[in-house]
Amino acid sequence: MILDQFRLNGETAVVTGANTGLGQGFCVAFAQAGADVIGVARRSMQETREKVEAAGGVFHEIIVDLSSPDAISVIMERCEALCSRVDILVNNAGVIIREDAKDVSEENWDKVVSLNEKLVFFLSQAMANRYFLPNHYGKIISIASMLSFQGGIRVPSYAASKSAVMGITKALANEWAPFGVNVNAIAPGYMATNNTTNLRSDAQRSEAILERIPAGRWGTPDDIMGAGVFLASDASAYVNGFTLAVDGGWLGR
Ligand code: NAP
Repeated sequence: MILDQFRLNGETAVVTGANTGLGQGFCVAFAQAGADVIGVARRSMQETREKVEAAGGVFHEIIVDLSSPDAISVIMERCEALCSRVDILVNNAGVIIREDAKDVSEENWDKVVSLNEKLVFFLSQAMANRYFLPNHYGKIISIASMLSFQGGIRVPSYAASKSAVMGITKALANEWAPFGVNVNAIAPGYMATNNTTNLRSDAQRSEAILERIPAGRWGTPDDIMGAGVFLASDASAYVNGFTLAVDGGWLGR
C-alpha cells in the first residue's frame, strides 16, 4: 500500500546540524515515520531529543564540530558504536556568510565551501562505502538552496557551495543508483530559521523577499518534513539525482 512505502520503521537516519532549524525538522519527521535518529551537531541537541522522543522516536547524538579535520572519522566511529547500519544520511549542516564579493577573504570562502560542499561529498562517500554500497540500499539527501539555481546577493561563497551540492547530487546519483542508493537534494526556499535571521531583520530585504514568494509567507521546518520523508523512503525509489524545491513557488516566478 502506498502509505506503507513512506514508513521508515527499523531504519536509522543520520542528520547533520540537528540542533536547530531544518535539521531539527528532519529529525522529528523521521522519528514520526518510525526511524531511529542520530543527530550530529557541535552543541547540545536537547530540544531535538525532546521533540524526537515526544514523537515516540529514539535519539542518539554525536557532538562534533564539522569543520574539524577528524569530523568524519568521529561520526563513522560513533555510528559504528550506536547502530548496526545507517540507512539515511541528511547533509543538512550549512553556513552562510554575507559579504560583498569584492571583500570575500580566502578564509571565509574556505569556511563556507568546506562545510557546505566538501563535507557533503566526503561524508556521503564515507557513509556509502561503509553502509550504502555494500547493503545495496541507502538514501542521501543533501540540503541545497535557491542559490543552487540563482546567484543571490552578497553571498558568493554560499551560491558556489550550494550550486556544487546540486552537481554533487547528480554525480553521485549517476554512480550509485545502480547500487540501490538514492542520492537527491532538497532546495528550501526562504525559511524562518537562524540561517535567515539577518535577512529577516533587514526590513527592506525581508519585505522584498516576502512579496516575491507566491505562497505569501516564509517557510518553516515543518514545511520540509514531507519532502524529507519522501526522499528518505521507498516512495522515492525511482527518484535519482534530483533537487526538489520546497520554496512556496519562488523558483517558478
Ligand atoms: P540553521 O538553524 O542555522 O542550521 C544550520 C545548522 O548547521 C545548525 O545546526 C548549525 O549549528 C550547523 N552548523 C554550522 N556550522 C557547523 C559546524 N562547523 N559544525 C557543526 N554544525 C554546524 O539554519 P537552517 O536554515 O536550518 O539551515 C539548514 C540547512 O538549510 C543549511 O545547509 C542551509 O544552508 C540550508 N538552507 C536554509 C535556507 C533558509 O532559508 N533557512 C534556505 C536554503 C537552504 P550551530 O547551531 O551550532 O551553528
